[in-house]
Amino acid sequence: MVRAIVGANWGDEGKGKITDMLGETSDVIVRFQGGSNAGHTIINKYGKFALHLLPSGVFYDHTTSIIGNGVALNIPYLCKEIKSLVDRGVPEPKILVSDRAQIMMPYHILFDEYEEERLGKKSFGSTKSGIAPFYSDKYAKIGFQVSELFDDALLKDKVERVLEQKNILLEHMYHKPKLDAAEIYKTLLGYRDMVAPYVTDTALFLHDAIKAEKTVLLEGQLGTLKDPDFGIYPMVTSSSTLAAYGAIGAGIPPYEIKDIICVVKAYSSAVGAGEFVSEIFGDEADELRRRGGDGGEFGATTGRPRRMGWFDAVATRYGCRMQGATEVALTVLDVLGYLDELPVCVGYEIDGKVTRDFPVTAQLAKAKPVYEKLPGWKCEIRDVKNYADLPENCRRYIEFIEKEIETPITMVSNGPAREEIIRR
Ligand code: GDP
Repeated sequence: MVRAIVGANWGDEGKGKITDMLGETSDVIVRFQGGSNAGHTIINKYGKFALHLLPSGVFYDHTTSIIGNGVALNIPYLCKEIKSLVDRGVPEPKILVSDRAQIMMPYHILFDEYEEERLGKKSFGSTKSGIAPFYSDKYAKIGFQVSELFDDALLKDKVERVLEQKNILLEHMYHKPKLDAAEIYKTLLGYRDMVAPYVTDTALFLHDAIKAEKTVLLEGQLGTLKDPDFGIYPMVTSSSTLAAYGAIGAGIPPYEIKDIICVVKAYSSAVGAGEFVSEIFGDEADELRRRGGDGGEFGATTGRPRRMGWFDAVATRYGCRMQGATEVALTVLDVLGYLDELPVCVGYEIDGKVTRDFPVTAQLAKAKPVYEKLPGWKCEIRDVKNYADLPENCRRYIEFIEKEIETPITMVSNGPAREEIIRR
């Protein structure tokens, strides 16, 4: 059985926690897209961890963690992340890396920085992890597949060929130092030695696992609104964040994905630039940011303060629909206990007309939020274990959201720890 855990919004919905939790009943956990550009925060018996590249299942003895072919693989980063876990007492995780995953090259990160610098104020707010240059090269067919590390002659020749083009850009477009082919080749040989113990045909491994009726979990990064096709293009990421892409980025048949758990945050937050209709500002935003998440809403990778907003039912219904959500986990609800009333964005007013359907980016730029206000519950709910024991106004909020997003909310997360979850 294959389950996917994906985000309905801009990311940071708490997918890491839900993956860590459902990892307990999974055999294999797969990252299928993205790279080390976003982070998942996980709190368990070993401590608090911010994972960037590893799947959130690495803490269990019984799970195999896979870096799928769809991922932007930063090899030194992977090794650093594995070491940082082991150094803190986590048992050495079982990790497999797809022989078809492509490699984040040192120059991808440089090009990411240089391009943001060139764009200045018009930049995309990239995390400068090399993601956009990486995926550009993959689809321009000048990327490096892990398997290619193991063929010396091919590798050497390809490095020379690719660097010819890169050096023209570096010299004439960015006015930066040129790259040396011999040095990059040497770096790649180092990468080969680092990654060799993990490399295998992970699509075949997954085929066998599915045949043996193992439970497989696909862990998405970011959310629907950062998808290059269905998100707020161009302020999106460079690989698909949708559950459907899990089939490609892991190498499994699409019909095997039976359960799509969409993680939805009880309010909105976003990092980087881009349209955000229900965004709030000033003291109101500062207070939510300070109280939000676990110790404040600041990026797990960059430490940047997240942009804050009220729950956006228009964006989230769309987010769930495009994911094909079969169920929803509503997270960080505990944070909202301080509010007298909770505005929920139930429509967008565009050119004087109200719509409930999430529009294309150009329309989105003109959208003004239409709010419905719900009464607050004004208390702490972190210790609550049963749904029926939640304050009435809190249940009203959950049920209102459930109706708006047209997807059953099966889990309510009321704290950052693994056990802080209410199942309905
Ligand atoms: P991801 O990228 O979707 O995995 O999200 P992150 O892990 O980056 O962001 C979620 C943040 O919220 C982290 O700091 C989590 O520890 C925290 N978190 C997750 N669920 C809850 C919850 O129910 N309550 C609170 N207070 N924090 C939560």
